[in-house]
Amino acid sequence: MTEYLWPYPNEAGQTEETSCDVLVLGGGLAGCFAAIAAARRGQSVILVEKGATEKSGSGGTGFDHWESACTNPCSKVTPEEIAWAYVREQDWYSNGIGHYIECREGYDRLLDLEHFGGKIRDTEDEFKGAEFRDDETKFMFAYDYRNRFTLRVWGSTFKPALTRELKRLGVRVYDRTEATGLIVSRREGGCGGKKCCGGAFAMDVHTGKFLIFRAKSTVMCMSRPARVWLFNPDTVGLCEFRPLQSIGSGHAMGWRAGVEFAMMEKSVRAEFSAAGRSFPPYGTGNNHNTWYAATMVDARGVEIPYVDRDGRELKTVSERYYPAPGQKFFLKGGVIDNPKYEYRGPETLDFDELIRRGYQLPFYADLSRMPESERRVIWGMMVGEEAKTKIPIYQNYTDRGFDPEKHMLQSYGTGWQSANFLEQERQFFGAPGGVMHDWDLQTNIDGLYVAGDETFASDCAGAACSTGYYAGRKAAESASAIDSIPHMERSDAEAEKKRLLAPLYVKEEDGISWKELNMAVSKAMQNYCGGVRCEALLMEGLDLLGRFEQEMVPRLYGANPHDLMRIHEVMDILTVSQIVLHASLARKCSSEPLFFRRSDYPEMDPPQMRHHILLCNQDGEIKTRELSLDYFGDLKTEYERRNADYMKEEAGGRKEWQ
Ligand SMILES: Cc1cc2nc3c(=O)[nH]c(=O)nc-3n(C[C@H](O)[C@H](O)[C@H](O)COP(=O)(O)OP(=O)(O)OC[C@H]3O[C@@H](n4cnc5c(N)ncnc54)[C@H](O)[C@@H]3O)c2cc1C
Repeated sequence: MTEYLWPYPNEAGQTEETSCDVLVLGGGLAGCFAAIAAARRGQSVILVEKGATEKSGSGGTGFDHWESACTNPCSKVTPEEIAWAYVREQDWYSNGIGHYIECREGYDRLLDLEHFGGKIRDTEDEFKGAEFRDDETKFMFAYDYRNRFTLRVWGSTFKPALTRELKRLGVRVYDRTEATGLIVSRREGGCGGKKCCGGAFAMDVHTGKFLIFRAKSTVMCMSRPARVWLFNPDTVGLCEFRPLQSIGSGHAMGWRAGVEFAMMEKSVRAEFSAAGRSFPPYGTGNNHNTWYAATMVDARGVEIPYVDRDGRELKTVSERYYPAPGQKFFLKGGVIDNPKYEYRGPETLDFDELIRRGYQLPFYADLSRMPESERRVIWGMMVGEEAKTKIPIYQNYTDRGFDPEKHMLQSYGTGWQSANFLEQERQFFGAPGGVMHDWDLQTNIDGLYVAGDETFASDCAGAACSTGYYAGRKAAESASAIDSIPHMERSDAEAEKKRLLAPLYVKEEDGISWKELNMAVSKAMQNYCGGVRCEALLMEGLDLLGRFEQEMVPRLYGANPHDLMRIHEVMDILTVSQIVLHASLARKCSSEPLFFRRSDYPEMDPPQMRHHILLCNQDGEIKTRELSLDYFGDLKTEYERRNADYMKEEAGGRKEWQ
């Protein structure tokens, strides 16, 4: 290691071993809540986070709306209605368990966040009297103003609040520490030889020290893959929508350990902030998500109409926020690029229809034509709280004179996007594939749980917080039921340490950088696993990635622990790419809900293929099995069967934790 350039002690080669009851990997929203749930149940807890927990993860910079707070006092929908609507909207390629936990427990987690110091109400009365505000609770709602189950929130206050609570509960937080591998063994007796998890290996990304965390149960909360198809070495931080350090290492270490995955063949054409080619998310004129339901105009300033699900043109701004006649509720509004579903909200007319009717490009968002409170809540609250918008968008644009009362913001590409992407430029987005789990959020490995964006078909912050908490309490239950930490093979630890440090011993002049490997992998994935796939292409892809493993990986060169971390990430991206290729080979049909096309199996969703294909790596052999899409059963019944204790706790009031 080049010590004179590095501000931290050189501890590469040293090892530290520690233990706990419950180990949480990843300190985003899901991980923080998992740790809190386990600590509340009296377990000793360690949380391992690659960045700094106070601001790390997708929610670290904030988020602007909380979906599915179905049990808030103003809500007119039930958890069952919304959870089943999500399942149907995703045509059953959906995580019913995650959705139901989100809808059933999400509001409880919001109250927790408020208790920890996060802001969930308009306490300063900035929006008093606005149509989207309930003046009694001071809650502010988004999208469907009649049913009031999505709340506008001040997400940038949440991670600092969670971090304070972790500290208060005595959770041992290891920041700047990357988890790299799971400790897996076959437990003696009891489990019938089934694999079980006994913690994880990790590395301090400042000092290079190797860490062994041994635990009775482990919760994985390391988000989802990225940079599989999209990489630009000059704009690394802008390659994807989610933060740079989340690249799916949880998936990769799970794969190496034999964890089972679902829907890994799913990928969508890139949408947001990809490969440095788009404008920053939420920084261009649109009417999607944060910008819902901004007034849109064409190049001449002619207003573009909103229509309800039946195609009826809406005359007022207010009407955009209410279900159509005969429609009970609608889900998150403004997903205008997709075909209309019964449950989607009012949208502007389809792009082709707009061009046919003579609307002219470019289009703009014009907030000046909206009521004052709607304008101010989009520009200033939503843009500001929505992840990376506070400084790059809200502050920068304001400093440079953007005034939403006077100015419009342009849309790019063919209408609404922040850029246009090619068919082969794909992303893990829109409820993508991930780790399979049961009703306890336990994986196929005993004692190993999963939550948040790492689960298959995951989606939002509310789901991350509530599945995190749920997995944390199930992991705590499991830890308290076993006497000892599962066995660890010393040779596994030694092998992992050697793997992690290997790039330090490659000579710079013979070495290649992590960027070269990422570029090679993403090119390979675009070529062999793009918008249209077939057996021959996929096999070529596997062959090529195999050669990268043999020829490029041993030449990766790193000068310090930060380089090592980047290298480990790209090695994991390579592994994730292999999972995608195997999953794509296993699905022998095309599928609309999975955005999956095979030229050798062009038939879309033949009935005999409408099931999950689960796959795992069993000591180098790829095993697949089928699972019915409705495997989770009746959501309410199955949930209540397993969560009587939690229901009793919540019914008894929330004071005991406080
Ligand atoms: C720009 C943006 C805007 C969004 N807006 C909204 C919104 O308004 N409403 C909404 O509901 N949802 C929103 N989302 C989605 C929401 O933020 C995520 O679903 C949620 O934060 C996921 O939480 P998580 O804990 O599963 O993952 P994350 O919050 O991403 O946390 C994963 C954590 O794991 C850490 N990690 C990764 N690898 C390792 C490793 N190897 N070892 C240790 N730690 C590791 C990461 O550093 C990170 O802290 C938005 C997402 C983005 C990116």
